[in-house]
Amino acid sequence: AVEVHGVHKWYGAHQVLNGVELTVQPGEVTVILGPSGSGKSTLLRVINHLEKPEVGYVSVNGEPIGVRRQGARLKELSERAILGQRGRIGFVFQNFNLFPHLTALDNVAAAPVATGKLTKPQAQGLARELLGRVGLADKVGAYPRRLSGGQQQRVAIARALALRPGVILFDEPTSALDPELVGEVLAVIKDLAGSGTTLIIVTHEIGFAREVADQVVFLDEGRIVEQGPPTEVLDHPEHERTRDFLSKVL
Ligand code: ATP
Ligand code: MG
Repeated sequence: AVEVHGVHKWYGAHQVLNGVELTVQPGEVTVILGPSGSGKSTLLRVINHLEKPEVGYVSVNGEPIGVRRQGARLKELSERAILGQRGRIGFVFQNFNLFPHLTALDNVAAAPVATGKLTKPQAQGLARELLGRVGLADKVGAYPRRLSGGQQQRVAIARALALRPGVILFDEPTSALDPELVGEVLAVIKDLAGSGTTLIIVTHEIGFAREVADQVVFLDEGRIVEQGPPTEVLDHPEHERTRDFLSKVL
């Protein structure tokens, strides 16, 4: 499970996360919704320790991320140990962030080689398999600039899968795409749901959330205001803030 334990995060005087408690069961899909500036991206970045919370911590399968407990205190792990943990948490960004000078195949194969997990031929074999899985078997040799946004995002998903992470975080994976390309990326994510990988997805695609999420979390001003199955949070929200937000995105 992914467990967020009492996380508080400030940027200067501005509190961005305010006591977030969240459990995501293994293999489940959690969709995070909330207005702009509510702390959604920050929460994802805290989960893989790209941001360090001032209070609280995250654990994955019982193992604290980025820190170890020393009595009642938390001590930062070494950079190397943090990088090792991060390899088990995939991250897919809004703007794909592919390496422009590498082919689709090498974008996917790069991390397993760099981390010493696979030899180059092994990693390229895996990359072919993963690109096939996201429907891009015919694009292995293409550079990112020759791919559509939807294709680039599918390469980015294959790249996240290459380290065989137990958890994948998605930060608005379709919001930079032209509307006609959104469906192909959501179809790939939907395919991953139920594959045993734990998915945490920030998205405004409410229909997708209704179909795929086990749990929907509504974040507002750094706090979880409402959470539960999609039929509750999306169809019968209890809180005014949630209703107001949904009336704007639906
Ligand atoms: P959006 O829907 O627009 O992506 P979000 O819910 O992802 O919003 P965050 O990106 O988590 O929101 O930002 C939460 C708040 O923290 C915002 O007010 C933002 O301006 C602030 N913030 C985010 N990153 C930093 C930073 N590195 N330094 C200072 N403030 C930051
Ligand atoms: Mg964001």
